[in-house]
Amino acid sequence: MTTLAAEDHQLVFETALAFARKEFGPIADQIDEDDAFPPDIWKRLASEGYLGIGVPEQYGGSGGDYMQAALVCEALTRVSPAIALSYGAHLNLCAHNLLRNGTEEQKRKYLPKLCSGEWVGCLGITEPNAGSDAMGIECTARLDGDHYLLNGSKMFVTNGPGADFMLLYAKTDPAAGKRGITTFCVELPAPGFSVSRKLDKVGMRGSPTGELAFHDTPVPVENVVGEVNQGFKVVMSGLDLERAFYCFLALGCSEECMALALAYSQERSQFGQPIAGFQLIQAKLADMYTGVFTSRLAAHEAMRLSMAGKRCSKEAAAALLYTSEVSQKVAYEAVQVFGGYGFMKEYPVQRFWRDGRLGTIGAGTSEIRRLIIARELLGQR
Ligand SMILES: Cc1cc2nc3c(=O)[nH]c(=O)nc-3n(C[C@H](O)[C@H](O)[C@H](O)COP(=O)(O)OP(=O)(O)OC[C@H]3O[C@@H](n4cnc5c(N)ncnc54)[C@H](O)[C@@H]3O)c2cc1C
Repeated sequence: MTTLAAEDHQLVFETALAFARKEFGPIADQIDEDDAFPPDIWKRLASEGYLGIGVPEQYGGSGGDYMQAALVCEALTRVSPAIALSYGAHLNLCAHNLLRNGTEEQKRKYLPKLCSGEWVGCLGITEPNAGSDAMGIECTARLDGDHYLLNGSKMFVTNGPGADFMLLYAKTDPAAGKRGITTFCVELPAPGFSVSRKLDKVGMRGSPTGELAFHDTPVPVENVVGEVNQGFKVVMSGLDLERAFYCFLALGCSEECMALALAYSQERSQFGQPIAGFQLIQAKLADMYTGVFTSRLAAHEAMRLSMAGKRCSKEAAAALLYTSEVSQKVAYEAVQVFGGYGFMKEYPVQRFWRDGRLGTIGAGTSEIRRLIIARELLGQR
């Protein structure tokens, strides 16, 4: 890890890494193989206080800051990117979002359950017909007395199958485009709610991803997060932080791939010498290191800027674009260093290669990140 983080942050990372290696190291391959997230992991993460980082103690959290949460995510990624992805969806997308935008009553009601691991949280914005065009969602929420009735579906929801709580975005004024979206707290399961399917992924296996359906699902009016028709503001309030956070997942994948390749290159001999002695392998190791080093700078800077509360859409998008694309190259070269063994499931390097592939797709694609950067450079909105 890092020589950039303050000393207590360094300790957070090292403690989390030791915890993750001990607790999840022996089962990480099995989680991937079975595509099953062992439910007791939430309790183990909560017992270390990891589910409450960045959430004040008055809401059941463990205090600390977003950087510490990101460092825990980086440490979890080094062992199991799938666990880190579910952790990020629960804490960063769901709990931190509620903390920033929820009412006092919502925070007191829901955050303690999320921080203790009693409830698993998720966030639902993406739909079958609305991914990159997130403001084009079709799910509706119609006011009916003291409730809204939800109708529609949500796609690719991390932790969706089995979640107890969801922050959900729906159209309350479909004619008003992005000015007609509202955010809701939804307790699950609920009447009219179903998991249409658990999705079968090539990577991040174990982190459950689902398509969810709502048919006249009632949500009390007091569960509106922020103001009615102001969901766009809720989305925007967290985007830079969320992108900065996910840089640490990409960084963790790169770091672990480099570490695995470095160790293997010194163990594996061909032509009577360790393959690390060949300059073409040394070049790969040097390029991997350079990618890790520069990704770390970008991730920390993006988190520092977004924690300072400054608008940093260009910087956060650039950092995630960079760290996630670098991690593809690092993983590719790490598999290459392993040769045929890199293509075998008995070596974990292929798992990081598959898991890390999500980095240029989830939380906004590389293409969308480039558009955000270019628009800002050109002074467009
Ligand atoms: C494993 C996983 C977990 C996820 N978790 C969550 C979650 O918890 N909650 C949630 O709400 N969502 C989640 N997502 C959804 C994720 O954010 C979307 O997949 C992502 O935003 C892309 O949307 P899409 O898949 O519909 O692709 P599309 O938007 O259909 O894009 C297809 C291709 O077209 C490109 N493209 C689209 N628009 C443009 C444009 N204007 N210019 C140039 N190129 C363009 C894209 O970059 C991409 O290459 C998850 C996705 C995955 C795969």
